[in-house]
Amino acid sequence: MKSSYAKWALLSLPRTVLTVLTLLVSALGLSSIYGAKPGPSPAGDLADFSALAPDDAHVHLYKDDPAFAAFLARLNLRLLDICVIDDRDPYFKGLEPQRGDVLKVVHSTGGRVVFCATFSPYDFEEPGFSRRAIQQLDADFAAGAVAVKIYKVMGMEMKSKAGKYVMPDDPAFEPIYKHIAAHHRTVVAHIAEPDSCWQPPNPASPDYEYYQHNPQEYAYAHPEWPSKAAILSARDHLVAENPELRVIGAHLGSMEANVDQMAQRFDRYPNFAVDTAARVPYFMLQPRDKVRAFLIKYQDRILYATDLVVMPKDNTDKALAEWNDTYARDWKFFATDQTVEYNGHSYQGLALPGPVLRKIFHDNAVHWLPGIMGKQ
Ligand SMILES: [Zn+2]
Repeated sequence: MKSSYAKWALLSLPRTVLTVLTLLVSALGLSSIYGAKPGPSPAGDLADFSALAPDDAHVHLYKDDPAFAAFLARLNLRLLDICVIDDRDPYFKGLEPQRGDVLKVVHSTGGRVVFCATFSPYDFEEPGFSRRAIQQLDADFAAGAVAVKIYKVMGMEMKSKAGKYVMPDDPAFEPIYKHIAAHHRTVVAHIAEPDSCWQPPNPASPDYEYYQHNPQEYAYAHPEWPSKAAILSARDHLVAENPELRVIGAHLGSMEANVDQMAQRFDRYPNFAVDTAARVPYFMLQPRDKVRAFLIKYQDRILYATDLVVMPKDNTDKALAEWNDTYARDWKFFATDQTVEYNGHSYQGLALPGPVLRKIFHDNAVHWLPGIMGKQ
């Protein structure tokens, strides 16, 4: 755990503030996780983060363990817990068991974890496809779903019976998008992948390991797949065709390498935002001043998110240690001008203004994902 910064920060605080903090720490039971001794160490890095009532708008938490509820309460954190259908993975092949697993987590965290549903796109050519999908989504909305995920299998895996790749703006999906908009829910669109997916292996890329381990998802090895530009233009077309539908492009909308690409879409589509899931390092790799100016200019369009994954069999302590480190690193990067380490390189934090941080870490989730705060 990265506690040296926390100690340094706390030492510089006046004694009265420290006393109040210490009381708060014990009142909130902040030392209960990790079986840690009493002390402010995990909360120290993240005290300002917690004060914003932060939201992580993109996780995959499928393990029900009371330790998660305790962790979320300790950090005053809410999560959007996302289901995803991918027939290449046994767990993600069907809606169950993941849907049931997510709903268990929703209940055991007292609603700090919020349900993001999905639907299977694979049978889009079968009669009654959209009617069945809509029926299923209505049940999910009744169970508390505030959003619906669509996934990169559109554009990169699914083919029609005629042998054509199926894009996210295929007319077969249109009634479903209309229905989601009519019910004031949001689409979370993980469409396409980072540029590196179409490029030769490069150990310096943040995604190098991922495609080494998931060659079946590596477009460079599949030159017959549609180009990234073609897939993103289908995504843009779906956003343009449905101005009443809020669309959050997951993973910086797969426009991670250059903030100008996001700016262009934000200017064009008022119903489009992005989450930062698994792509915060791409902000580190671009010029600091440019990224900082972008985040300030488009402060209403970016939702903080991580893409942390916990499968039912994963070790909870290990997962929570990773979560704590991720939130601490990301907060330090966005909120301070201190140095953050990534992949053996150092990057200076962005020190974003307080009101911008409040939007990225909280307000934008409330606006773009109505219902994420529960029934008020
Ligand atoms: Zn994800």
